[in-house]
Amino acid sequence: MALLQISEPGQSAAPHQHKLAVGIDLGTTNSLVATVRSGMSTVLQDEYGHALLPSVVRYLPNGEIAVGHEAQAQQSSDPVNTIVSVKRFMGRSLNDIADRAHIPYRFVEGTDAQSARLLLIQTRAGLKSPVEISAEILKTLKARAEKSLGGELVGAVITVPAYFDDAQRQATKDAARLAGLNVLRLLNEPTAAAVAYGLDNAAEGTYVIYDLGGGTFDVSILKLTKGVFEVLATNGDSALGGDDFDHRIYCWVLDKIRENSSNFTPLGEQDTRLLLTKARQAKEWLTDNFEAQIVCRLSNGTLVDVTLTAPQFVELTQHLVAKTLSPTRKAMRDANLTPGEIKGVVLVGGATRMPHIRHAVQEYFKQEPLTNLDPDKVVALGAAIQANALAGNRSDDDLLLLDVTPLSLGLETMGGLVEKIIPRNSTLPIARAQEFTTFKDGQTAMSIHVLQGERELVSDCRSLARFELRGIPPMAAGAARIRVTFTVDADGLLSVSARETTSNVQANIVVKPSYGLSEEQILAMLQSSFSAAESDKQARALAEAKVEAESLLTAINAALERDGDLLNSIERQEIVSQINALQGLLQAGNSHAIHQATEALNTVTESFAARRMDASVSRALAGKNLDSLEL
Ligand code: AMP
Repeated sequence: MALLQISEPGQSAAPHQHKLAVGIDLGTTNSLVATVRSGMSTVLQDEYGHALLPSVVRYLPNGEIAVGHEAQAQQSSDPVNTIVSVKRFMGRSLNDIADRAHIPYRFVEGTDAQSARLLLIQTRAGLKSPVEISAEILKTLKARAEKSLGGELVGAVITVPAYFDDAQRQATKDAARLAGLNVLRLLNEPTAAAVAYGLDNAAEGTYVIYDLGGGTFDVSILKLTKGVFEVLATNGDSALGGDDFDHRIYCWVLDKIRENSSNFTPLGEQDTRLLLTKARQAKEWLTDNFEAQIVCRLSNGTLVDVTLTAPQFVELTQHLVAKTLSPTRKAMRDANLTPGEIKGVVLVGGATRMPHIRHAVQEYFKQEPLTNLDPDKVVALGAAIQANALAGNRSDDDLLLLDVTPLSLGLETMGGLVEKIIPRNSTLPIARAQEFTTFKDGQTAMSIHVLQGERELVSDCRSLARFELRGIPPMAAGAARIRVTFTVDADGLLSVSARETTSNVQANIVVKPSYGLSEEQILAMLQSSFSAAESDKQARALAEAKVEAESLLTAINAALERDGDLLNSIERQEIVSQINALQGLLQAGNSHAIHQATEALNTVTESFAARRMDASVSRALAGKNLDSLEL
């Protein structure tokens, strides 16, 4: 079986067909799905124009499952079967949930081998794991995306907090799989936010991502070096968020009710939820307004009608703002940084809209934070940009820089040479395609040998995988068009596919490129490539000269056999002696001499080639008149 012959070395990938990929921010309070359309990252809305999908799942009495606003609306009337903030339980055991006093759910510990020790929630639809519940949220987002984009998704990037451990990440992946989503990558939320602001294209520097959501506060310090983000430190408070601000308003309203009524009785669950919702609305209103009116009627008939001003709200909640600064300082200390060394601060999470939060961040870092993207959407927008790149929709020069290949990846070509497809230090993810052709007439199979390393010869590189492309329709040598695509995803997973483009026969393989190679081995391979550069160059020149010579010899021998009668004996003798000379040189190792003899054989056969062409034209025209020819 012949190996690959390169038709056009160095040819880069052709434009890809746009693939539908999304970024998903699977949040504690709200979740979002975004995609890149016409080069712009955009959040996708549901049919009612909602971008945010409340991360709420309700198991209905009729066996149906409601997700989002519909579920949220029933939260107070059916708290046990309406699961909110399920993200807090992902990958957790019952022991991990220290404070369960305020959680209305009935938790059960998993008993079978798979779910042992993991927590389950008793609902009217039976025991549900946080993975299953999260999968409902993801399914809803998937359906929204497919409806809006009009096709099936090739995959999704799902964001997770930077501090999520393996179990939590695995649980997130499992939820996605359960929802029928192909996870292109899990991406740290702060990295996604930085990507949304294009900081990955910025000059090197250290950035702070300050994320205050509904129930959690996370601060991350990211260092950008050559486009690669490294998480230097994370800190936060898993029980601090916008909800606490609502709670402060709620307590303030309760005090007001108490002041105005002589026989105050503690509120029931429904009234509590109602007042908390009103408190939240007031808080959000106060972001852009000076005062908020809170009006509602409690179940005992009491009318609540109070007005809260912005300065009062600041006073009520300033201690919560201060509470976010303490983990921020800790993270800065851990990263050994001072506020002056921070190049930019990104605000994430709906609660960072509150003016006194922005003010406090600005004061501490002595710079205006980045706020021009919607803080609720920024993580999803960044995830979509990443998903778009991972799906291979971006051109090479604006590929997202997140990691690099330690060694070049390539494949074996004629003469035992390695053709590098993805050079060392290429940023991941990356996809490169190159077109090859067959070497022999009627060749129906091709062996593809995937290699890693910097050296020119196959014998000096590390073999990663071999596979075969079979079923190529028999064609003349050089007529088949075999497109070989190397794709390395962001996790370093290499897949290679080969497709004959006229017949569409295809074969592929997935390889882990760096598997089993230690840092020292990588270094050793690099060093040997530097020291062997000159001898490698000669070896390549020799191998290339031999391939060229053999290819010409094969073609001329076939021509002599078929059309030898077009030559007189002197001409034939001249060609044969040149063939013998070239064949003799092939055994020796002088690339220059082989090259010259090949050139000489080419020259001596020039008029033979011209005569063959004339002969084949006359054969084609024989017996035909001018009218029958399609000119
Ligand atoms: P997230 O978890 O990022 O969706 O953030 C949700 C939190 O952001 C909730 O506590 C919301 O009340 C809060 N939030 C959303 N919009 C505003 C706003 N305009 N002003 C203040 N807080 C807001």
